[in-house]
Amino acid sequence: MNSSTWHPPEKLRWSGPNTTIQLATMLIEMTCLRNRCPRVLFILLMVTAIACAADRRPSPSPPVTLTPAVVVAGSPELIRVEAPATAQLDGEWLGRKLEFFRSRDGHAWFALAGVDVEATPGSSTLHIDAKLAAGGVRDLSRTILVRPAHYRTGALTVAPRFVQPGPEEMKEIQAEVQLKEKVFAASASEPEWTGDFRAPVAAAPTDSFGTRRMFNGKLASIHKGMDFRAGMGTVVRAANSGTVVLARPLYYEGNCVIIDHGLGLFTLSMHFSRIDVKEGQHVAQGQPIGRSGATGRVTGPHLHWAVRWQGAYLDPAKLLRLNLAQAR
Ligand SMILES: [Zn+2]
Repeated sequence: MNSSTWHPPEKLRWSGPNTTIQLATMLIEMTCLRNRCPRVLFILLMVTAIACAADRRPSPSPPVTLTPAVVVAGSPELIRVEAPATAQLDGEWLGRKLEFFRSRDGHAWFALAGVDVEATPGSSTLHIDAKLAAGGVRDLSRTILVRPAHYRTGALTVAPRFVQPGPEEMKEIQAEVQLKEKVFAASASEPEWTGDFRAPVAAAPTDSFGTRRMFNGKLASIHKGMDFRAGMGTVVRAANSGTVVLARPLYYEGNCVIIDHGLGLFTLSMHFSRIDVKEGQHVAQGQPIGRSGATGRVTGPHLHWAVRWQGAYLDPAKLLRLNLAQAR
């Protein structure tokens, strides 16, 4: 790989040892004035030499940073890459394609990505290549440790038809699986969101994401969203701007609204009593999209809210905590 044409930004270049030398000289002078001990002088000289050597390494400001820095199964991750605006970035992580966009201030590249809730903990390679306008490719790949998340196990009781659907119901479920696949395959080619995501409802959240659930003591599945304790008819809002790509009743989800935020990122709201948007409609952040309810596979009224990126289900609570204003 040819990286000869790569010019790191000013703050990534060698930092001069001047400051360290000045500081050390000052310390030596002060110490020598107080007690003329040659041993102290020797130690200080050694410290200065080590500090100067350390200063000759490139500045520790890394070209790739992940937020949050601790990555667990289910983490959304904001990936920041320092590369020229003219570069072309390609990335892949755990079998999913990263799509980069330039930050609003034009200082860096970003990708909003994540690790699926069911990902196997361990070492992973975050592949990033920067193709430079002048030719040559810079390999910015790095190893990322995916730590195990500690999700709970729970049991609930729902209507039997949601645990053992009949043949007609199975047909309906299969058709819906295909419909959702089609919807998720077509995401906008630019990010449609701006700034931080906001909670979709003014109701108490629960830490139910990732919980392993037994339905009627039989069916085990992982809860891939976050439940809000929203009473019947509570206004549900778009967490960020985007396009409504699905707004209809589904078997398990009940009345469901899916918003495409671009580059493979979707938010899903389920179990509505009423849907107030149409498929294809653009929504702004905070715009009402429906009312909470108890349709589909539920034990009672609540809002199930999920975040999906390139097929991975991410912890909505963590997305709400991400500071995204730096990106766009
Ligand atoms: Zn739920």
